[in-house]
Amino acid sequence: MDESAQEVSTRCALVTGSSRGIGLAIARSLAETGCDVALNCSGSARLPALEETAAEIAQRFGVQATAFAADISKPEEAKRLVDEALAAFGHIDILVNNAGITRDGSIVRMTEQDFDDVIAVNLKGAFNCCKAVARPMMRQRFGRIISLSSVVGIYGNAGQVNYAASKAGVIGMTKALSRELVSRGITVNAVAPGFISTDMTDALPDRQRALLVERIGCGRLGTPEDVANVVRFLASDGAGYVTGQVICVDGGLQA
Ligand code: NAP
Repeated sequence: MDESAQEVSTRCALVTGSSRGIGLAIARSLAETGCDVALNCSGSARLPALEETAAEIAQRFGVQATAFAADISKPEEAKRLVDEALAAFGHIDILVNNAGITRDGSIVRMTEQDFDDVIAVNLKGAFNCCKAVARPMMRQRFGRIISLSSVVGIYGNAGQVNYAASKAGVIGMTKALSRELVSRGITVNAVAPGFISTDMTDALPDRQRALLVERIGCGRLGTPEDVANVVRFLASDGAGYVTGQVICVDGGLQA
């Protein structure tokens, strides 16, 4: 193995919300490249299952994988998550802000709590994690921060004013932070998936799903792996000249 390959193999990635769906596919994909991975779920109830997932990833890909429970919407828990991952791995080179929730409803039905909860996880949670990794990444003069936005944050979607606002916020934060950190060797990018088959979209009624597919050029919903492939590139050492960008992974969705 040459020196640069060795360097890549010792990278460590923290992927928030990696107990299932897109986050789990990202963690697996990064582990496949030789990254150690810190997995995260929202609370201790899911931790035993996540620990099993971590053990399976470690065995399959020959990397270190550790599971951490933390509600990233709470600044002190996000900080503890980062501190524990740093203690376990010694460094965090890649942060993937993936954890996200929906609380859909028309504006007349949406409660203030629905709005606040979605902003707290999707936007403030990403901020909390970025803030916690910024100093360690600046010290090591290397970092990759990739946040999950959504096409809904670009085009909007009826019934999702809270979610759209949170995901548009992620784009603004990505662009601002990329300017702050670029001189320290840290890139900051966002990925905006279209409609991806996960627990989040499984809740869609069949009729709505069929109408959606008609609007997708590729003729199908995306898979978590479709998104993970793009995150994997942005996380790579070879993506060092790409920052402040938003890459749509939507199969040619007609907005
Ligand atoms: P998902 O299947 O519902 O999984 C959500 C993940 O986020 C779970 O691992 C969950 O952990 C975690 N999570 C939720 N709240 C958290 C918190 N407060 N602290 C820590 N972790 C938390 O979602 P997904 O479809 O894979 O979506 C992943 C990301 O992609 C989200 O940011 C979503 O907005 C974005 N996205 C998804 C789609 C899509 O079509 N699916 C499209 C565009 C963007 P627990 O298991 O503990 O609940």
